[in-house]
Order: sequence, then structure tokens, then C-alpha cells
Amino acid sequence: MIKAGWEAVIGMEIHAQLATATKIFCGCAVETGGQPNSNTCPVCLGLPGALPVLNRRAIDLGARAALALGLEIQETSVFARKNYFYPDLPKGYQISQYDRPFSANGMLTIMTSERDPSGRASEWRPMTIHIERMHLEEDAGKNVHEGLPDVDKYSYVDLNRAGTPLGEIVTAPDFRSSWQAYDYVNHVRRVLQWVGASDADMEKGNLRCEANVSVRKVGETTFNNKVELKNLNSVRFMQKAIEFEIERQIAAHESGEGVTQETRLWDEKNNQTRVMRSKEDAHDYRYFPEPDLQPLTVTAEFIEMVKSEMPELPDAMRDRLMSDYGLSFADASQLVSDKDLAAYYEETATASGDSRVSANFILSELLRELNNSGKSVGSSPVTAPKLAELIKILGTGAITNNQAKEVMVEMFSSGSTAPEVIKEKGFEQISDSSAIEKIVDEIIAGNEGQVTAYRGGNEKLFGFFVGQVMKASQGKANPKIVNEVLKTKLSG
Ligand SMILES: [Zn+2]
Repeated sequence: MIKAGWEAVIGMEIHAQLATATKIFCGCAVETGGQPNSNTCPVCLGLPGALPVLNRRAIDLGARAALALGLEIQETSVFARKNYFYPDLPKGYQISQYDRPFSANGMLTIMTSERDPSGRASEWRPMTIHIERMHLEEDAGKNVHEGLPDVDKYSYVDLNRAGTPLGEIVTAPDFRSSWQAYDYVNHVRRVLQWVGASDADMEKGNLRCEANVSVRKVGETTFNNKVELKNLNSVRFMQKAIEFEIERQIAAHESGEGVTQETRLWDEKNNQTRVMRSKEDAHDYRYFPEPDLQPLTVTAEFIEMVKSEMPELPDAMRDRLMSDYGLSFADASQLVSDKDLAAYYEETATASGDSRVSANFILSELLRELNNSGKSVGSSPVTAPKLAELIKILGTGAITNNQAKEVMVEMFSSGSTAPEVIKEKGFEQISDSSAIEKIVDEIIAGNEGQVTAYRGGNEKLFGFFVGQVMKASQGKANPKIVNEVLKTKLSG
């Protein structure tokens, strides 16, 4: 919650690693965990005279990312040198894009909600974010300060990451709360994974985000000094860091101390942000067009081709699940939180013919089992056809809902099919009407008084007869058929 009378102004920058096999300007493999400096060549080492060659796949994936985020791909974009010195950047400049980015003018609608102190979402509502640009650039290498001999005396440089393709996604300062920023980053992550543009895994560092945060009095239209937050290793840490920063800045303004334009890091141990360095302005980088690369020209045919290869996007799929299968917004949203889960749902709903029960089973039973076992949907022992078979059996009334849930748990742990588990557990019901008719006849003959009372108008006694039949069948009679047979015979 933001203190009354104040508002936060937040802009987001996301660096997403594009999921190519090789680097953006050379043929070195993009790999993590290998020997330091093993995936390097004269280009990514920045040796004099080496020339960059643009990786076509990086453009394909960049185009997918741009379209999925509602950006316009520019017909011509220009690579530029961003000049700065750092040991992990041996060329002395990073190849990026500046005034002619790959894509611009994005309008992205996300769903967002504030959360109560326990983290529960209140009301989800749509919010449109302006994404100013997504440009393409190369990543730098890594300076290593730990885990190697004599790190107190030396720093090490690993250039395996140097030249990895990145899309940098920059929004307008549209966010007014930490939860809006949180929902935005999650939206971007999911969409990038969904279209295969990036693995977008923050823990592995292939999606990194920075937040530019300032505060101002409600009603003001100018901006106060902003702070750039870095080192945000998870979306949750990012949200906490923004929240802390908003409060810190309001207090700094109110005390008259003011806010310094600087870069701050999130310190998870102490739950606070701390100063990293004062912020450089853009002109310090002395951008100029990269002379070793032609301007990048993209045709309308290329964009059409990329569009035709893209899967249906999660929001469109959510709306379709709601209209085609009659699902609620909440259920459909949860199903499209994961592409595999959404596909699993459609397969189950189609094969079982019951979209409602399929959603219930998947969102409660299946997700719980997957969670407990640490398995992904793709490796679920209960495949979509197997679950559909169980739901069909449940639909015939041969087993009860609770029995079906028990069967599902057993199917998950043993890998057996529904009919196998039902047989094993003795859940098989008596669905043979002639057998049930025989039991009903016996019950009617043995309870003359109740039969007379029922026929005289005491319809409440119907439950008594159902109970008697179920008891006589040791609970195995199909309740649907019992009801039908009893109604016919008692009315007669
Ligand atoms: Zn290389």
C-alpha cells in the first residue's frame, strides 16, 4: 500500500535471452556450465579485425517476441556501438541498438491485481502497458569473484556468455504499484516461453529485469529523480524491492532529504535496497552506428511468415477456452498459465466429452499430484487420454466422484489405467438393471408399510428406499440406476 497523497511511477526494463543455439554475431555455442572461456572465438573475444555476422535465428526469435508483446517490427533497424569499458566487455563497446530499434510502439494488455498482506489477489482487471521498444543486442561476459583460487587477489573473466543474443524490452513509466510490475513481468515471461522466443528463467539468468522507480505527489505531472533497481533475481524479490523503494523515497522526500538518481541493489538478507553506483546518463555511452554491420531490413513477407508460425497466444487461448468450453475466467486463466497444461486440458476435454469435469480434475487433482511429485505436465503418469477414460467412466455413474478421485491418485502413483484400478479396488458397481430390479423387488416386498405411506404421498420416504437398496447391494449398486428403477417400481 502506498501512503495516501503519493503515487509511484515505475518503468520496467527486461533483458530476455533469445533461445538460439549460437551467439548473435558468431557461431559459438550458447551454453551454460561449460569450461570458462571454452565457447569463444575472435569475434566474441573482441580481437582486432574480427567481424560480426548477424545470426538469422536471433532475428526470427526476436520477431516472435516482438509480435507476442504487441510491438511493431520496424522495417529498418540499426545496430549501434554502446561504448563503455568493463573487463567482461573486451571490445570496449557492446553492439546494441539505439535510435533505430528492431521493434517499437507496443501496446500490451495484461491482467493485474493488488494483493492483500497474505499475498492473495483481490480483483483482477485488464491494464494496457505501453512498451516503447524492444531492441536486439549482445550480452557481455561475466566477471567471477568467487569459487576460484586466490579470488582475494584476482578477479576472473569468463566470456562464454559474451555475444549471447538479448532482446531488451523497455516500457513507458506506466506502472503505479509493485504488483502491477510483478504481473507484467510474469506476463512477459510466460508469453516469451509460450512462443519459444526465450526460456525466460530468472533463476538461470536468461531473463533479467530492472525497475526504474520514482514517487511524486498525486496530481503532479513532472517526474522526480528515479532510482534504478538491479540484481532482482526473482519476480518476488523485484516486487519486494520496488515496495521498499517506494516507501524509502516517500520518506526521503517528506524529510526534505530528497532522492538521489542512482542504481540500487536488492539485499535479500536485510530486506532493503542499497546503493550500487550513481547512474550514468545515456549520452555517456557515446552511441554511434556499428560500421561493421549493415542496417537490418525486414520485409512484410518475413513478418507474415513469423506470424503464421506462431502458436495461439495465451490470452487468446484463455478467451477461447471460456467461450468454447464454458470455463470461468479464473479456471481458464489457470489452465493457460502453462502451455503444456492448456494443451493437456483441451485433449482431455475433447476426448472425455465433459469440459467442466475435466477442468475440475486437472485444476485440483492433477495439479496437486504434479506438485507433490515435482513432475511436469509433460511427464505425468496420467496422460490426457487416460484421464479422459476415467472421466468417461465417472460420467456413466459406474463410480462415485470420491471414488474417481481415489482412482486418479492410484493411477498417478502406479501408472495403471482407470479400469485396472477400479477393478483392483473393487469399485466396480452393479450397473446391470436386472440385478438391481431384483434387489428393489425384495426391498419393496419387505417394507409394505413404507410402500403404502410413500404411495399415499409421503415422498420423503424415497431416500429410505435408496438407502435400503444400497445397503442390500453393499454399496455397489449404481445410484443412477437405483433411482430410476425405484421410481418406476414405487409408482407402479
Ligand atoms: Zn564467438
